[in-house]
Amino acid sequence: MGGLESCIGNTPLIRINSLSKETGCEILAKAEFLNGCGGSPKDRVALSIIEKAEKEGLLVPDSGDMVYEGTVGSTGISLATICRAKGYKAHICMPSDQAQEKSDLLLKLGAIVERVPPASIIDPMHFVNRARSLATEHTSSSEKPGRGFFVDQFESDANWRAHFEGTGPEIFEQCGGLLDAFVAGAGTGGTITGVAKFLKSNLPKVKIVLADPQGSGLFNRIKYGVMFDPREKEGTRRRHQVDSIVEGIGINRVTANFETGRHLVDDAIRVTDEMALRMARWLVERDGIFVGSSSAVNCAAAVLLAEQLGPGHRIVTILCDSGQRHLSKFWAMAGNVGGETMLSLQTVLEP
Ligand code: PMP
Repeated sequence: MGGLESCIGNTPLIRINSLSKETGCEILAKAEFLNGCGGSPKDRVALSIIEKAEKEGLLVPDSGDMVYEGTVGSTGISLATICRAKGYKAHICMPSDQAQEKSDLLLKLGAIVERVPPASIIDPMHFVNRARSLATEHTSSSEKPGRGFFVDQFESDANWRAHFEGTGPEIFEQCGGLLDAFVAGAGTGGTITGVAKFLKSNLPKVKIVLADPQGSGLFNRIKYGVMFDPREKEGTRRRHQVDSIVEGIGINRVTANFETGRHLVDDAIRVTDEMALRMARWLVERDGIFVGSSSAVNCAAAVLLAEQLGPGHRIVTILCDSGQRHLSKFWAMAGNVGGETMLSLQTVLEP
């Protein structure tokens, strides 16, 4: 028996029956939305980074130290919960275009929430820069009590290590060491890097594939080695925002967590918003699985990968968070399920 931390990790690996039946591959998904603090894989990351900071003396439990982070939501929710359990305060900076449910939840958990306008990473008000400068300000201020700690999930190696030590080995064990491919999206890149590092060192032939939403530069990074599509015109190359309704994955800069594992990523699959919306509905209609946008992207990419590999392969992906966190935005667009003719898988995957 343990404290709240014991609800983190050891999530089930489930078979997505409908997609397995249709593709002839075994499509398995790690139910990361069942992590018991913040309901996403970010529980693992938040705990890993906080515990590392405690070991280094940067945070002291029950001291009321302030933890600062820039996040699109999931990491903030995990941090806010873990901070409560450990006696810290959380100050979360998030872009204002993310689903309202996430900032409402953060407030209920007692975090300070600052919603900043979506901005380029070179802008001081970018959510990550804002969190970093608040932490620096806190540390250098004689008036503020305790320490200020910047979590830095995009660059911290405690992020990918949480997946190298947890998610990766769990998948390997749950598959009895037998799987052909792992496919997942990347926000910070911690999940794909950590899982890829573990799986490739134990199963050198496993294929690692990035699932990338429309508008993200990572697809191009894997395909062409640069963050923009060299076939695009110059003027379209420097978008700072990922032009997609998908939250949590897709990014237009190179983070340390993604770069650390980039050489292990064999291929990338592009998923449009339309495909993600239709896949989210498919998963509820056929399997009763109600998930958010990044999980839908992952499942769409898993099916496209199954078509490439052919029947008889085992493909693992991630169900990141629940659809409950996306009711006002992604699911408002996906619509209600039932009553209409069910889509064929071929229609789901039309761009
Ligand atoms: N899905 C959701 C809902 C997320 O919030 C995130 C992280 N931003 C991811 C997937 C991607 O995980 P990672 O940061 O490890 O690449």
